[in-house]
Amino acid sequence: MRVMKFGGTSVGTVPSLRNVKHIVENTSGPVVVVVSALGGVTDLLIKGARLALDGMEWDKTLRTVEGRHRDIVFSPLVAADLQDATWKEVSDLLALLRNYYTGISLLNDLSERTLCNVVSLGERMSSLIISRIIDDAALYQSMDFIKTERWFGKNIAVTDLTDSLICRRFSDLGTSCRVAIAPGFISTDRDTGDITNLGRGGSDYTAALIAAALEADVLDIWTDVDGFMTADPRIIKEAKVIAHLSFLESMDLCNFGAKVIYPPTIYPVFHKNIPIRILNTFNPEAPGTIITDEHKASSLQLFRGVTSIPEVSVIDVGETESLRAPELHTRVLNVLSKHGIEVLLSASALKGMKAAVRRSDAAAAMRALREDFAGEGSEATSPSLDEHADVSAISAVGENIKLHPDTSCRLSDTLQDAGIDVITSATGASGFTFTMIVPQALHKEALTALHRLI
Ligand code: ADP
Ligand code: ASP
Ligand code: MG
Repeated sequence: MRVMKFGGTSVGTVPSLRNVKHIVENTSGPVVVVVSALGGVTDLLIKGARLALDGMEWDKTLRTVEGRHRDIVFSPLVAADLQDATWKEVSDLLALLRNYYTGISLLNDLSERTLCNVVSLGERMSSLIISRIIDDAALYQSMDFIKTERWFGKNIAVTDLTDSLICRRFSDLGTSCRVAIAPGFISTDRDTGDITNLGRGGSDYTAALIAAALEADVLDIWTDVDGFMTADPRIIKEAKVIAHLSFLESMDLCNFGAKVIYPPTIYPVFHKNIPIRILNTFNPEAPGTIITDEHKASSLQLFRGVTSIPEVSVIDVGETESLRAPELHTRVLNVLSKHGIEVLLSASALKGMKAAVRRSDAAAAMRALREDFAGEGSEATSPSLDEHADVSAISAVGENIKLHPDTSCRLSDTLQDAGIDVITSATGASGFTFTMIVPQALHKEALTALHRLI
């Protein structure tokens, strides 16, 4: 059996859904089809909630959401005798949305729990409609089997429980059901049953959890580009499709910013050795990219791709008499990891160390370190802390980086020659990702310069 995932870019409009229908109906054997909300709808749902919170007009946003779904339900894609019943079910979900917005506006309060309820409606509506578009399809409710728990203020998947619930729920796949449609992204808390989600872009992860639990033959991620590319094609026009990637390379490319797959997606399928293919809904004949456990790149190729995380902060920590650089380095990494903050890069500095974190994590990171160092005595005797925002992380990724120890110098020199200051740099834990911190204003120039080396 196979698992296919169609992102918002693939399920946004009637013509794109026609492609989805064609692709799924021409696949043989049992298939699970994971779908995102219609492209742009999750953003609209959030926008409406924020408008309601600010006491502003949200009705127009709600009507836009309604119109997007109505256009599809009353298109020839849904059989004429199913349209009214389908619209009735979608309308019930839209009524729920209206109630949420009214409540947010009246109470002048938007909790994380309410926002999770609001955004869940995108995938609940799209999966319902798509289950009426595809022949022989049945709808499976992901909120019944994708379970999360709290971890440092985030919701993360509880994989063991989710695994067994998926196996139980899909036991009829291939017998009474050939095509199972499941909403991506949405989940429920294992303890409270509250609606949660796997994070923005999380439908890829839903598909991977299902593929791993059911030991699928392949996980197909259908999107709007011809495959995994050497760089983000929106930034680098010359980016090319990479025919084959190893799991490890794709994991680092995604962790360091390649937006084509949501980072946690690779892990569950990698563990079960299930290949991932990246395919284009708008060009289904294109071979796409295949990701497997093999490493097939020519040893002549310096690296496979470049990525960037545009909004990063570098935290400079200065050593003290009692806390010297090596010990300080370990301490900073421990404190940040204890607070669930991902360190993108860490490097020793002349009189201390530097740690790069996502800008959205910077305030929490500074707070955690300040609290930890408070135990070191007075402000004068504890390590100094400085945050440098306005920087980006640029990474070159490829298993060959391990084979050519001089690659890092070549990469730094390339940026220096292009007039771009490398603030700090380091090789990641995998040993084949070299990350450089550069001024944010020059991040596109840095990507362009490095991409020429591929
Ligand atoms: P979906 O709605 O299918 O989940 P996403 O927008 O999440 O689509 O991901 C696909 C987009 O990722 C592409 O349109 C492309 O612009 C962007 N992208 C960023 N980096 C890469 C890359 N290295 N290779 C391919 N696409 C990339
Ligand atoms: N609809 C969600 C989002 O826009 C999840 C997804 O598309 O994967 O983030
Ligand atoms: Mg996506």
